[in-house]
Amino acid sequence: MNINQPAPPGVPYGQPQPGYAGYQSSYGGQPGPMVPPSPYGAYNGPMPGYHQLPPPGMPRAPPSSGTPPASTTARVPSGQSAYGQFGQGDVQNGPSSTVQMQRPPVSQPFVPAPVASLVSQPAAFQPYGPPPTGAQVTTQMAGMQISGPAAPPPSGLGYGPPPTSMASASGSFQGSNLYGSYPQNLAPPTSLTQAHPGAQTPQRSTPMQASSFPPSAAGGPRPPSITGPSMSGQSFGVPPVSQSNHASSPPPQAQPPVPGPPGPPPPMHSSQPGYQLQQNGSFGPPRGPQPNYGGTYSGAPNFASQPGPPQPPPPKRLDPDSIPSPIQVIEDDRNNRGSEPFVTGARGQVPPLVTTNFLVKDQGNASPRYIRCTSYNIPCTSDMAKQAQVPLAAVIKPLARLPPEEAPPYVVDHGESGPVRCNRCKAYMCPFMQFIEGGRRFQCCFCSCVTEVPPQYFQHLDHTGKRVDFYDRPELSLGSYEFLATVDYCKNNKFPHPPAFIFMIDVSYNAVRSGLVRLLCEELKSLLDFLPREGGAEESAIRVGFVTYNKVLHFYNVKSSLAQPQMMVVSDVADMFVPLLDGFLVNVSESRTVINSLLDQIPEMFADTRETETVFAPVIQAGMEALKAAECPGKLFLFHTSLPIAEAPGKLKNRDDRKLLNTDKEKTLFQPQTGFYQSLAKECVTQGCCVDLFLFPNQYVDVATLGVVPHHTGGSIYKYTCFQVESDQERFLSDLRRDVQKDVGFDAVMRVRTSTGIRATDFFGAFYMSNTTDVELAGLDGDKTVTVEFKHDDRLSEDSGALIQCALLYTSCAGQRRLRIHNLSLNCCTQLADLYRNCETDTLINYLAKFAYRGVLSSPVKTVRDALVSQCAQILACYRKNCASPSSAGQLILPECMKLLPVYLNCVLKSDVLQPGAEVTTDDRAYVRQLVTSMDVAETNVFFYPRLLPLTKVPVESTAEPPAVRASEERLSKGDVYLLENGLNLFLWVGASVQQSVVQSLFNVPSFSQITSGLNALPVLENPLSKRVRDLIDSFRAQRSRYMKLIVVKQEDKLEMLFKHFLVEDKSLSGGASYVDFLCHMHKEIRQLLS
Ligand SMILES: [Zn+2]
Repeated sequence: MNINQPAPPGVPYGQPQPGYAGYQSSYGGQPGPMVPPSPYGAYNGPMPGYHQLPPPGMPRAPPSSGTPPASTTARVPSGQSAYGQFGQGDVQNGPSSTVQMQRPPVSQPFVPAPVASLVSQPAAFQPYGPPPTGAQVTTQMAGMQISGPAAPPPSGLGYGPPPTSMASASGSFQGSNLYGSYPQNLAPPTSLTQAHPGAQTPQRSTPMQASSFPPSAAGGPRPPSITGPSMSGQSFGVPPVSQSNHASSPPPQAQPPVPGPPGPPPPMHSSQPGYQLQQNGSFGPPRGPQPNYGGTYSGAPNFASQPGPPQPPPPKRLDPDSIPSPIQVIEDDRNNRGSEPFVTGARGQVPPLVTTNFLVKDQGNASPRYIRCTSYNIPCTSDMAKQAQVPLAAVIKPLARLPPEEAPPYVVDHGESGPVRCNRCKAYMCPFMQFIEGGRRFQCCFCSCVTEVPPQYFQHLDHTGKRVDFYDRPELSLGSYEFLATVDYCKNNKFPHPPAFIFMIDVSYNAVRSGLVRLLCEELKSLLDFLPREGGAEESAIRVGFVTYNKVLHFYNVKSSLAQPQMMVVSDVADMFVPLLDGFLVNVSESRTVINSLLDQIPEMFADTRETETVFAPVIQAGMEALKAAECPGKLFLFHTSLPIAEAPGKLKNRDDRKLLNTDKEKTLFQPQTGFYQSLAKECVTQGCCVDLFLFPNQYVDVATLGVVPHHTGGSIYKYTCFQVESDQERFLSDLRRDVQKDVGFDAVMRVRTSTGIRATDFFGAFYMSNTTDVELAGLDGDKTVTVEFKHDDRLSEDSGALIQCALLYTSCAGQRRLRIHNLSLNCCTQLADLYRNCETDTLINYLAKFAYRGVLSSPVKTVRDALVSQCAQILACYRKNCASPSSAGQLILPECMKLLPVYLNCVLKSDVLQPGAEVTTDDRAYVRQLVTSMDVAETNVFFYPRLLPLTKVPVESTAEPPAVRASEERLSKGDVYLLENGLNLFLWVGASVQQSVVQSLFNVPSFSQITSGLNALPVLENPLSKRVRDLIDSFRAQRSRYMKLIVVKQEDKLEMLFKHFLVEDKSLSGGASYVDFLCHMHKEIRQLLS
């Protein structure tokens, strides 16, 4: 399976795409003729002239650049009252006179020079012009430094079996016991997965060159040290000095292949030596003499003890300081790009990294907060694209929240006539449309069709061909804006009612006993005052309703005229109906008294329940039916505790089975166990019913199945394993508050249009698709992204570039129908080097992770991992072959923009979904898989490579965030305290030799030994260090969309195993390679491709 190929046949879970494969490419970004009718006539519907293909010679793209010409006439005074709110201040106004229309200089976006100077080959970019300074990094792996002391455990570098002692430890923490009772105390954070960095300053330069591959005899890409016994004797004992840095490695095939290292093989099946099937087979399976390969790599002793062969001598290793450091890259970008605003006027600009704080000035292209691309320079032809294997994708977050300094998109009201659109492809008016014939017509920048300008929209052009009202109209000068939709954009041609929220509470034994029901009811009393409202509205337009359930459902009449709430029980769950309409959905302030009374009574009513069984699907059906009856969209908040085994539609059985791991059937664990929920999801989407699911399981609940409806309706899933009020309420309440208060677009449809030459072919995220072009979202909030992949269907031109327009039609929380439009213009190239110079690795990883996580639904996990490695090797090999100057094969040469691809890719490969540790449950994997699917680039970045910050290095009075260090155990000092976060998990690690004063200041105990391991909060102490650390924790939490529960971990304590899981540069317990080893492996793969 090749990553870049269309999805595997099995209809991926996230992607109902009937007829997908047969999607014909037609012109422009248009849907093929087979697009099914849509309820939204004006939005998607057939358009006049739609089927007429443009005549062959028809004029195509507009003048060379779509961006409005830069003009020296600065801006025209804004005269239009209608757009009065817009048009003052240069932030909002069109391109400034200084905006460059040209493609940015070659090396522009990414890091400057220090590295370049180290490059051993000055001529790196010869074929493409002046050698850009920072264009590439040469990591010379020839003659790598051997660092004695730091050598990894004897078992071998990355693949060795974890020390046995660890094994036992891992068994003990967290009750790794997957089937039976979950641990009671330390409910493991749901997902113990990966994460991301902080900021330190590894010497990037030194490293790059210092190390080199030892003359790897084998020609195997691996440094001998890693390769195992056979080589170790030879070149290795030698002190680094004696090794020529640039040692040329012998011809690749000359010697017996070195045993392959790498990969993140699944711990469990020893029959599968890692990467065997690659290209020329040199990686092959079992190599007898390599004990560490077989043993370590394929079946970590943890899981399969391998008596076998003698242990190889301690391997030498590549100096970790010599390989590209995420911390360094992040810090460099912050330093270089964090001070100036990112101005979006120019086409194809690569934005600063997601880890850099920067402001955005919209001057015609959508902010990177809304859209980020894997590359901002697209190959002109599909052949080039195939050669490079760089996926062309955009990660789109249509309703992204903006920092307070940036204005939200302006809302444009064109009255009854609605937005101006291209007659043929229906693209919306945008800065790239070209006005012609004195302004009477405009030529579409997407399909080239010429459309009459409606009389009421007519405006004269200035001498540059630009409309004189250019700066007064957001849709002519900005990348992002909104239109008020007309009734044509509404379901059944009727304006929608405001949405409703329905709270559906499991009141079975477990929910009551854990204290959840009481806690939730108490919280709702105050939370209902904070439902989302629009603009300055005094109160929310959202109505609310309440249902409780176990095996039966209880509906509540909370009509304001009642003295007490009334309960109506529906026990026939087979054919769900809503027993009351009047009084079920109410206005909070009107029914305040009755609602409070109900919320007081619920915990009492069920306090003595013995009912342990629950239903699930009927609950969703009930909520959906209630919304249908009220003719409104809305959201269901479900609070659920157990596997729904009661007799009812959607009943489930426990089908969890660890034995399926690493078998062909492993994929079934990610698939829903019945198709019932898919159908239910479809009905919900039709109704605009979004489902948010809060799970409180004490054991397996089948997240893969229960998550289907939330996933396809654009909802969220939260999971609190072994929920206990004392330790988990803060996290739950915080998530709940945020979830209930956040702004949501309801009943949404998203369409991505592209200019001629490319089109959207694949979509990833939490949504539903009933045809090949429309992404349907019952609800969409500001945290969710939709990732779109593009493929060529024609040749692109460097002159016209490529355009993307994302249009989201949705109902606001006040019930207003709107269209949000985002436009982005990209460059196109005929030289591969331009592609590699304008890539964004963080976005690439976001796409690759989503692609892989969808792949596990239909392919064995190992196949998915191998495909990832293979694709990335091809990406890097293509660069090496076409863009880098010739150099010794012993050198690993990475494009500057992609120098972190190996380290980040390794993190994806080692993640719990693709290579789970023994303590990771089936539900955890399904949960993480779904979460990642909707993550934006910043979230995947920190999720796969956690941030690790030392806390005592910086003066306590400093308010700056301490510089991060790389996520590796060897970066931890015993005398320091560290914070680690990945967006879902948060640890405070305390070194064993930390100063007593620090212990006292943070924990209020006299010594390290008295710190309680597993603590979930720091005591509130009045001293600068305590305050500083608590502030830092708060700021981490504020940056993430989910509350991270703190876990205090002491060095050498059992819990430390949990923490080490996040030190992603190290070899993992589950068999994942260390960064160093993986880099060597990639190098080998690349060399094989080149040879
Ligand atoms: Zn068009």
